[in-house]
Amino acid sequence: MRQITKDILAPPADLISNNCKRQLKKIITSRKGGKATYYHKKKVVEALNNLYINKCGYCESRINVVASENVEHYRPKAGVDEIDLVAGTTHGGYFWLANEWSNLLIACPKCNQPGNKGNRFPLSDPLKRVFKHPSMLASGEIDFKANHYNSIHISGEVPLLLNPEHKNPEKEFVLKRNGELKSNDKSIFAFTTIDVCDLNRVPLTIARQKIIDGIINDINNQIKAWHSSVAPLSEAQFRIQLDYIFEKILQRLADESEYTFVAKMIIKNFETLILDEIEKQFRSVILNQFNSYIKKN
Ligand SMILES: [Zn+2]
Repeated sequence: MRQITKDILAPPADLISNNCKRQLKKIITSRKGGKATYYHKKKVVEALNNLYINKCGYCESRINVVASENVEHYRPKAGVDEIDLVAGTTHGGYFWLANEWSNLLIACPKCNQPGNKGNRFPLSDPLKRVFKHPSMLASGEIDFKANHYNSIHISGEVPLLLNPEHKNPEKEFVLKRNGELKSNDKSIFAFTTIDVCDLNRVPLTIARQKIIDGIINDINNQIKAWHSSVAPLSEAQFRIQLDYIFEKILQRLADESEYTFVAKMIIKNFETLILDEIEKQFRSVILNQFNSYIKKN
């Protein structure tokens, strides 16, 4: 997961057009969020893809290579799964947020499929769940500001699902050597998000682990070259080669890279994720070079 900065006061024009307002009025009257169409207009999807750089808001996988992205409703528009509700109650979804800019993100079909995120929306206290659209303005018009995620009418809800636009994921998750995500400081938000979106499914843990393995292999190859019996590298040359490897880690922080979170964790926890896997006698020179590289860059 990567933190996303979205200007909720500047939605794409389609979402505040008169036609969209008319549609929203009908949706509010019929309470049928499934009838919304403006959230997947081409320009809305483009604007979301620009923010999310074609990557899933939950797992950070690049989507458009193999599938179409889903415009995901953070608060589900047409129903909430029973598992997240007070027993014996039903919820028709947050229909009034079906075309709401601050409620839209990009998700991959895997994270968003029924059984994973789908219509899940767990709250820390399900009794505080909001069922109703906020009132209209005195003019009879829709109060769009009341639909914003931080508006007063919905502020009693504490969602347990992390939204990359609301919280910094780096504070919530940590990365294990085997590529699994774990909640940091027992974060209930990270724990729930891993569970709801299945963020430790095997292809994801393999992809994350592969990045860590690649760096360890690169370092081990340079150690071999440094201690080779044929034309060995000098220590100075070895340090230069290490810098190339560290440069590649920094390049992985670029927003458009897949799994920037892994690179962030490698930099933050270099000793446990990388160094512990290297032969002991070489660790101090590598750590020393790593620290001086990071300081410089
Ligand atoms: Zn995903």
